[in-house]
Amino acid sequence: MLKCRDVLALGSVYVDGAGSGREKFVLRAHLLMCGHCRKFIRSLRLTTRTVEQLPLPVDEARVQKIIALLPPAEKP
Ligand SMILES: [Zn+2]
Repeated sequence: MLKCRDVLALGSVYVDGAGSGREKFVLRAHLLMCGHCRKFIRSLRLTTRTVEQLPLPVDEARVQKIIALLPPAEKP
């Protein structure tokens, strides 16, 4: 039987749709019984989708322009 810490390790593989059929089966079986891991997988999916929607690649010149517009850091 899969344990919660196994779900932590396999979570990103599951969310990415990778992993063997057996891994997916035992993970789904665990999710049916464990609300904590369901929440974890849900938040991992949300995070993955959000990251996928970020524009890539990062325009480094634009980042530097934005940084230049920021006020200087205050001295402690
Ligand atoms: Zn769990």
